[in-house]
Amino acid sequence: MADTIFKKIINKEIPADIVFESETVLAFRDINPKAPTHILIIPKLEIPTVRELNGKEHGPLLGEMIDAANLIAKNEEISADGFRLVFNCGNNGGQEVYHLHMHLLGGRQMTWPAG
Ligand code: 5GP
Repeated sequence: MADTIFKKIINKEIPADIVFESETVLAFRDINPKAPTHILIIPKLEIPTVRELNGKEHGPLLGEMIDAANLIAKNEEISADGFRLVFNCGNNGGQEVYHLHMHLLGGRQMTWPAG
């Protein structure tokens, strides 16, 4: 199967505005931001969707993604006012890129329900 755009970003084959990188997690600014701060936090491991996750196997990795989100939110100065974390899953979830990613959105008042 062809590499996803996010796999190419992990491999540094295409550029991205990277704000955080560890052995297991990468975070970079969304190319089409939906909020003043919009960052995508992804595992380097290729997991297509939330459907392939299970707590026993992926709990530590998900924890690292949350730790990254909290660190980035502080660095971006959106932590105190609050922010939103989103996983879109599959067609009805509005997922476009089939490499697991968590959206970190902040810098404005979010509305609910999400569209
Ligand atoms: P999804 O709809 O799958 O949850 O979110 C995919 C996100 O990836 C979208 O917000 C979209 O703007 C972003 N995106 C798609 N292609 C690229 C790219 O090449 N670079 C970056 N930085 N973001 C991308």
